[in-house]
Amino acid sequence: MKAVEIICRNCGADTLLRRDPIYEGFTRTGEQLSCSSCGYVYDEETDVPFKTRTTDPQIFTDADRSVKVDVFDEGENARLCRYCASYIVNPFTQFCAVHKKEVQATDTCPRFEQSCGSDAKSDLF
Ligand SMILES: [Zn+2]
Repeated sequence: MKAVEIICRNCGADTLLRRDPIYEGFTRTGEQLSCSSCGYVYDEETDVPFKTRTTDPQIFTDADRSVKVDVFDEGENARLCRYCASYIVNPFTQFCAVHKKEVQATDTCPRFEQSCGSDAKSDLF
């Protein structure tokens, strides 16, 4: 079992979390989480003062950052030419009806108008 470092709330020791399975008869009903230094029992996993939360903030920050980037990209997608009412696509080209020029599906522009479906495109002609 992986050792989990904690800073015990009771004795203040930089120590390890102890996990003891709790059995009711032969059925495992849960785990008792306690301090391996002083034996203080934590009722809930959320009560455990895990050391990793404070010593590994960098990992969490990086994860947060990449998640935020993904979310940002999602937002950008909403303004892509391919979703725009003025975006016309045929087998040979992708065309912007506003700027009268060839565009890429991944382009964005300030004149973006959310396409309301196929009807919106035919209205342009
Ligand atoms: Zn302790």
